[in-house]
Amino acid sequence: MGAVELQKRDVAMLGSLLRWGVLPAWYLAAWYFDGSKRRAENRLGLLRRAGYLRRVETWWRGPLVVAPMERGRAARPDICLGTPETVESTRLKHRLEVVCVANHLLRADPQARWLTERQLRHAQVCDKCVANRRAWRRRPDGVLISGTRETAIEVETTTKPLKQYLAILDAYADQGVESHWYTVPTVAQERILQAAEVLDVHDLVHIWHWPPVTTRLEYARPGAADAAGRSYTRSAYVKEKRSGHRRVGNGDQQVPGVAHGHHEQQNDQHQ
Ligand SMILES: [Zn+2]
Repeated sequence: MGAVELQKRDVAMLGSLLRWGVLPAWYLAAWYFDGSKRRAENRLGLLRRAGYLRRVETWWRGPLVVAPMERGRAARPDICLGTPETVESTRLKHRLEVVCVANHLLRADPQARWLTERQLRHAQVCDKCVANRRAWRRRPDGVLISGTRETAIEVETTTKPLKQYLAILDAYADQGVESHWYTVPTVAQERILQAAEVLDVHDLVHIWHWPPVTTRLEYARPGAADAAGRSYTRSAYVKEKRSGHRRVGNGDQQVPGVAHGHHEQQNDQHQ
């Protein structure tokens, strides 16, 4: 194990890594190295060889993703979180997409804070972290906190059965929680809308197409995420339905494609 003297920036990066569990190098480059991928990768390599973090296997031509190690956790005794867990590769794409959405929302609202799924999970069992605890029946992918306003954020990279959306929206509605959905497959948007209609909870549910057209290259260029995603409202839904512009019923075919890399998929009908 190589020796490395931890700098302030390393300590901050380890904090981000602990809160998120896994992070792609490009976000660390954007957040801590003024966007210099090369400098970020050099530094991460050093920290990796010194045992603070490890490289996470992704997919073919996938991004460089890192996760904290026990030594990285020890460097941040101020952060109360459980042991760094191993991430199942099947969930990795979803996890990274959540980072993408969070980055996008935090850039749009620099005053806002984000609670990661990892922080939420930990807070359920740790009395020191009650401030992060939410008595919600459903644990979202993240919570966006802006002033006194809290929004449950859900990122859909695959489509769940309608029944499941009904249960989730019902759980949120029960406690008056507002949920914002960032959905990749069109059929997921349709089902969530349908569930919101059935439960009559439109006021609590907002659905956005993800990724917005300007962020499609975000994997390559994190800086490109400034434009806001377009909200997918019920009136837009009804209008499109009436004018027949909506492709209904073919969405299920998109799901396998999504699972294998939705960034290749173009779906411009809501842009
Ligand atoms: Zn704690």
